[in-house]
Order: sequence, then structure tokens, then C-alpha cells
Amino acid sequence: MPCRCLTDCLSEEEREMGWAIALHGGAGDIPVTLAEERRAPREATLGRCLSLGVAALKANQAPLDVVELVVRELENCPHFNAGKGSVLTTKGTVEMEACIMDGITKNCGAVSGVSTVVNPISLARVIMEKTPHIYLGFDGAEAFAREQGVEVAETSHFITQENVERLKQAKGANRVQIDYTQPISAVNGDSQIGTVGCVAVDGAGNLAAATSTGGLVNKMAGRIGDTPVVGAGTYANHLCAVSATGKGEFIIRATVARDVAAVMEYKGLSLKEAATYVIDSVPKGNAGLVAVSANGEVAMPYNTTGMFRACATEDGYSEVGIWDTEVEHNFIDNSKS
Ligand code: ASP
Repeated sequence: MPCRCLTDCLSEEEREMGWAIALHGGAGDIPVTLAEERRAPREATLGRCLSLGVAALKANQAPLDVVELVVRELENCPHFNAGKGSVLTTKGTVEMEACIMDGITKNCGAVSGVSTVVNPISLARVIMEKTPHIYLGFDGAEAFAREQGVEVAETSHFITQENVERLKQAKGANRVQIDYTQPISAVNGDSQIGTVGCVAVDGAGNLAAATSTGGLVNKMAGRIGDTPVVGAGTYANHLCAVSATGKGEFIIRATVARDVAAVMEYKGLSLKEAATYVIDSVPKGNAGLVAVSANGEVAMPYNTTGMFRACATEDGYSEVGIWDTEVEHNFIDNSKS
């Protein structure tokens, strides 16, 4: 696919690294003792979604399509906190949020407060493409989804028994929380699920980012986190694409996703340097991100105990991991680009 960049286009040498993709399934205080039966399905889903994204990039699909495709798959998996499996508000309801952004055009779409939309990331894309606006929420977003024929479902599709249990625990402890931080050991000893995101770049330097979430357990009804906020949880421009995860209030204050791009541009740092710099600026224990640059570099820093994550690059590298120590390399056969 030819680069659609009109200005600031990278030279061929600068783009020598080719396509790259990275995804996450949430960052937080994930205990390294996480039970195998809790860890394995999530790692398997990350690996499957990574393979899906890699195949799409190899088939020359646009990065915007690739990130939407991957995030839809993650939304459909009840092990993660997005779409089916979203965590519950203090009222026991689901209020999902999502954002998608195209790097070269900076077109973006975002949605908050939807409770019946099966794939909020696709609604965000329809908002981007079919309205003069960027961000719709709550009743207006629900009505627009129906008008556009976006797939909807009953509440029972989204609410899992585990999330009913998590809400009960959170209320008992009187706290609003990212699932993983809770010390409470009901739900079979863990509650590790998380927001999902994907970033991708093709060989021509076209970039895209997408993030989707159910937010925080026991959040107030109407609470909006970082995920749908352009520049906080999600951002892409001609230099990089970023999807963040963690405690939304911290990520919004630090404008995490946009800051990675700004630090690259204004300080002349590489993607890895910029991403580390920005994550280090957020109070410890609160944030992580995945990012790719126009030249195919990948960064996945976090200042939490762990982050469910996966990445692959055109040169054959791939990994799926949660903590620093237990990273499975060369997870997929990436040799036939
Ligand atoms: N950032 C999300 C929020 O605050 C939660 C997460 O990343 O798990 O809504």
C-alpha cells in the first residue's frame, strides 16, 4: 500500500524496518503467581489475535482495518475487559468506551457509555467515517449505532458472572479499581482482565491505533476514562501510534498517548526512548502502553507489575508476555512476509 502521508514523509531508509504490530490486554498489578488456568487462555487469545493481525498486514490490509479487526476479536473474548466481559459500574451496568485513530490523516472516532453495542471499536470507526464529529456518548451513541445497523445485543451478552462477583468485591472493599489491583481472592484467586488495544504500521509507514474498554470496576455511572480520549488513551500521527492502559485518571492527566508523539517530535527521541520517558512520568503502578513508529519500531513499557501484551515485526520477531521475565519469543512463524 502506498504511503498516504502528504507531509513529513519518512525516507525509504528511515522506513527500512517494515510493518509492525503490538497489542495489549491491560496493565496492572498482575501477580506472578497468577494461576495457569487464568493465564493460559489470555495468552492464547493474545497469540491468536497477534497472528490475525500479522496475517492481515501481510495481506496488505490498511493498518486502520488491522487494528479494528484485532480489537474486535479481543472485544469478543470474555477474558478481557472490553465488549463481552466488560466490567460493571456501581449500578451493575455496562458502559463501554472505545477510540480509533488513523495516523496520517489524524481522523479519529470515539464512543463512551454504550451498553448494547457488541463491538464499540467498530462504532467508533463509523462515528469517524459517517459523522462530522469525533466523539459520541450514551443515548446519542446508542441511537446512532441503531441507525447505522451496528450489531447490538442484550445486556446478558456482556455481563459475565465473574464481573458480577468483581463488583460485589469492589463494593465490599468500597473501592473503584482496575481489576488486577485488588487483593481480594474470590473469583478463583484472580480477577486479571483488562482493557484492550492494538497499534499497527505497514511497510509504507501508515499508522493506526485502537483501544476499547469497559473501564474500571465499580466506576460511577457516567464516568469517562482515558481510552476514548484522543491523546490520552489513544493517539496516532505520522510518527507513531499509541494505545495506553492503566488507571484512566492518571493517563488523562499525563496525556500519555499524545505525549509519546510529542516527545518524539520535539525532543527527537526514538519511539522506545519517548515511550519510556512518558511512562516514567506517570506515578508508578498506574500505566502501560503499546506503540509502533512509522519505521516499524515497537515499544511496550509499563510501570505496573505486568501488562498482557504481544507484538510482531516484519523482520521475524514476535513475543507474547505478561511480566518482564516470562516472555515467550518468536511466538508465531513470521518468516514468510
Ligand atoms: N484505562 C482504563 C480506564 O481507566 C482501564 C484499563 O486500562 O484497564 O478506563
